[in-house]
Amino acid sequence: MSQNANDPQRKSWIKVTENSDFPIQNIPFGVFLTRDDVITIGTRIGDTAIDLGALHQLGYFDGIPLTDDIFLQDTLNDFISDGKKTWRLVRNRIAEIFDAKNPKLRDNEDHCRIVLFDLDEIEMQLPVQIGDYTDFYSSKEHATNVGSMFRDPEHALLPNWLHIPVGYHGRSSSIVPSGIPIHRPMGQTRPAGAEEPIFGPSKLVDFELEMAFITTDANQLGEPIPVDEAEDYIFGMVLFNDWSARDIQKWEYVPLGPFLAKNFASAVSPWIVTLDALEPFRTESPTQDPEPLPYLKAKKNNKSFDINLEVELKPAHSEATTIAKSNFKYMYWTMAQQLAHHTINGCKVNSGDMMGSGTISGPSPESYGSMLELTWNGQKPIKMKDGAERKFIQDGDTVTFKGYCTKNGVRIGFGEVSNTLLPPFQPKKNNNHK
Ligand code: MN
Repeated sequence: MSQNANDPQRKSWIKVTENSDFPIQNIPFGVFLTRDDVITIGTRIGDTAIDLGALHQLGYFDGIPLTDDIFLQDTLNDFISDGKKTWRLVRNRIAEIFDAKNPKLRDNEDHCRIVLFDLDEIEMQLPVQIGDYTDFYSSKEHATNVGSMFRDPEHALLPNWLHIPVGYHGRSSSIVPSGIPIHRPMGQTRPAGAEEPIFGPSKLVDFELEMAFITTDANQLGEPIPVDEAEDYIFGMVLFNDWSARDIQKWEYVPLGPFLAKNFASAVSPWIVTLDALEPFRTESPTQDPEPLPYLKAKKNNKSFDINLEVELKPAHSEATTIAKSNFKYMYWTMAQQLAHHTINGCKVNSGDMMGSGTISGPSPESYGSMLELTWNGQKPIKMKDGAERKFIQDGDTVTFKGYCTKNGVRIGFGEVSNTLLPPFQPKKNNNHK
């Protein structure tokens, strides 16, 4: 099917500023609460949010096989279940409706009043009900940095790393949208040199610069997804901050891997950018040596995406400093390989499942995707614009990720995921015993 929603020449009758992440070529999908407290599925052009539920009720999707309430829902799961053919029909139709040359909605003031919202009139929600969440560990630079710090620089990668997209099963209950503040976690740690563990607030709270992809219903239990088909089951991508507590992680992770250091919070950008919208920004992914086993060897779709990533750190009462710049293209394992590997044993993948890339570090020290690497485990503090220093994240700090692609004058972006770290949770006063 043609991808006319990607036409770089198309302009919208909705105002889009020059450096917007959301030109008419993007057409991401999200869920928001409107000024009337109605929850709906929507898209966004420039700084205007568009109520797809209302558009559908007004007949603008006539001719596309959609159930009446497909957009009147508080998650995108059912729409994602409809499959790639439907996503493309809807995206192409939205491009037509908002084309500068199309007067149908443009000149209908009553309809515009119902359908269009300013961003300050809406509240973004989690875009999907995440059934299962998996986090990979697929940046060679990140795995090498961590291995060098905690093991031996000569053997930084463990023997399996170049053969398997290493991953673990995380927890979806603590995934939050951008804007939700996060408490510093409490937990067990064992200070350097001590014999016994102590309990208290984590002292080494960190971010992980990641992206995540969201799947549709992909297979039956027992049925692997071939690597060359895997991308057909990926709806789109978001920015993903996998908040981490390094001191808790260090004590707890043997022998079964990450646990409480990783599941206190992870945050996503609220607009899912479809793989279709990202198609013009394909780029080579790193050469894989040794060659992967046949089930991980793609005949096609072995390309990655050129997505610029930035991390800003803002202390409570001063300005933000950009502390890292990386790119999704550095990922050693592709999303198709991750999904093929995930299902090679027959593991079932559902609509709304989320798969994190793992921390995306690039080759240079400015491109590292965590404080752990940027400060080399606290040995090289980061200088902030206001003169302060940071080894890890402090209470009141806000961490913001941004991501965008640019090519031939078109910019497609993800907006941001931004969350503030609060002090540890204080139990509510118990009023039950008067
Ligand atoms: Mn992670």
